[in-house]
Amino acid sequence: MKLLFLDCDSTLSAIEGIDELAALRGPEVEAEVVALTNAAMNGEVPIDEIFSRRLDLIKPTRHHCAKVGELYIQHIAPGTQGALAAARNAGWTPIIISGGFTSPIEPFAKFLGIEEIHAVPLHFTEDGNYAGFDLNAPTARNGGKPDIIQNIKAERNPASTAMVGDGVSDLETQPIVDIFVGFGGFTPRPAVKEKASAFITNFGQLAELLDTVA
Ligand SMILES: [Mg+2]
Repeated sequence: MKLLFLDCDSTLSAIEGIDELAALRGPEVEAEVVALTNAAMNGEVPIDEIFSRRLDLIKPTRHHCAKVGELYIQHIAPGTQGALAAARNAGWTPIIISGGFTSPIEPFAKFLGIEEIHAVPLHFTEDGNYAGFDLNAPTARNGGKPDIIQNIKAERNPASTAMVGDGVSDLETQPIVDIFVGFGGFTPRPAVKEKASAFITNFGQLAELLDTVA
């Protein structure tokens, strides 16, 4: 078993789901949330510090999540489906690991044929209004992605692991995967590019890198 962990926002898709959810609440909420997201992705503030602050501003509804699910699909990274097909042919199973929200990512994962998502579950009231998020979700804090990968490795003992992502929270997995691939197709982040052992700007470049892993 070879496991290919993939970040979602600004990696598999050009958008940041939370920014799009914010935009659905108007330009003021959007500007505030985008600033918080960028600060976290650049490693300037801890993720857990901004997590509930952003959600309290946005209060995403189930309906808004479905809309953002469509946006993920519309803004899919060029070459993603070909890269996934090549990876599957080479024996890799893709898994999404995201600090975004499970509800909007689900339709996108389904579109990609990816069955496993580790993201942050949102809670809704019966009529679909925001009712909080899963405080225990590992990716709602720094160190969440390596924790998830460590647990999966302990449970399933994969022969190889790879991680692809654009953010500092993705880079945190580098010490525990066989290959970490920084992704700069949408939002190249200097902090990631400098330290990543491999860096791509297009999914067409992924297969060759995966082939270097035993
Ligand atoms: Mg990302």
